[in-house]
Amino acid sequence: MLTLDLKEIFKISDRFVGSYELKPEDLKLPSEIGVIKEPVNVNLEITKDKEGYKIRISIEGNVELECSRCLETYVKDLTQEKTKLLQNTPNEEGVFMLKPKDLEVSFLEEPDIVDVAQLVREEIILSIPMKPLCSPDCRGIPGYQVEFEEETKPQKRNNSFAILKDLLAGKGGR
Ligand SMILES: [Zn+2]
Repeated sequence: MLTLDLKEIFKISDRFVGSYELKPEDLKLPSEIGVIKEPVNVNLEITKDKEGYKIRISIEGNVELECSRCLETYVKDLTQEKTKLLQNTPNEEGVFMLKPKDLEVSFLEEPDIVDVAQLVREEIILSIPMKPLCSPDCRGIPGYQVEFEEETKPQKRNNSFAILKDLLAGKGGR
């Protein structure tokens, strides 16, 4: 249902167009990356190319991420459109040499078979930043800076107190 057999499809047509509504349970996004709560809409257009299959993917949806600074949950828009090339694994048909310069290439796990959910999951993961921010000028957790200072100050005080005590006890020098 969510896999496309391109060999069969291109026997009868030279262009494939499909629309999908992928549910969170189809996408199985790892929860440490983000949480998808609503279905993601996907449009695919695939044409056969001498170098593989050219695929245009457009994605519409949202993902919930945790801001890496303030740790608040926020929603990121996943809307994107991308064209890439799908190729069978390099050793299968020797297509590895034909690497186009301008298109991103993905290799198919199974020759001529596209797993739509997996393809979309990969694109979603690629579009999520390593350190998500709820806004570019997020100021972090309110009060965190203050707490941090309060934690370090007593330590410094302890250290200098210890040094002073040593000095007074005559260990510090002469
Ligand atoms: Zn934030």
